[in-house]
Amino acid sequence: MNCQRAACSEEANHTVTVVDPAGVTAVSEVCFDHARSAKVEATRSRPRPPHRPDFIDPVTAVECGDCRIPLEESSSLPTGDRQPCPVCGSVARHVAVTLHDTLGLSESINASVRRPGHGTIAKVRSEDSFTQDLQAPARVERLIDHEHDLYVEKIVLWDDTIIETRAKLTDHQPG
Ligand SMILES: [Zn+2]
Ligand SMILES: [Zn+2]
Repeated sequence: MNCQRAACSEEANHTVTVVDPAGVTAVSEVCFDHARSAKVEATRSRPRPPHRPDFIDPVTAVECGDCRIPLEESSSLPTGDRQPCPVCGSVARHVAVTLHDTLGLSESINASVRRPGHGTIAKVRSEDSFTQDLQAPARVERLIDHEHDLYVEKIVLWDDTIIETRAKLTDHQPG
């Protein structure tokens, strides 16, 4: 099956399910890139929260996008100006955004499933995040399951909108 987006001939190997607070569900069968756009569009279609000073001025921390070591680098540094990660050489970046501790929201939970002889077969990461488009907190859960070749990302926006992306782990990479 082809990606549902007009003029896209990539394979539809990602399913993005959006459930709004009223329970209205929209399902898109799309390619890797359009799974990303579907997520952004679903997020931008939601309202911003009423102004709360607690929500602004989140703390950002830059990490290597591959090995996730913390880097002394501005999150606004242009991509072309990045120095390779001193550990793994990657120029991919992950910007971790956390809120003030007073909100009590900046926790993250990691769990790994290991099997003797196979190492880690699945990982679950659940963390508090910050949605720049809405200037609001969000919860993000990711399952990376090597045994079942499954990738699931579930984002819960501040208004309880759920955006779930599901794909084969082997398909969850740029085409
Ligand atoms: Zn597409
Ligand atoms: Zn690295």
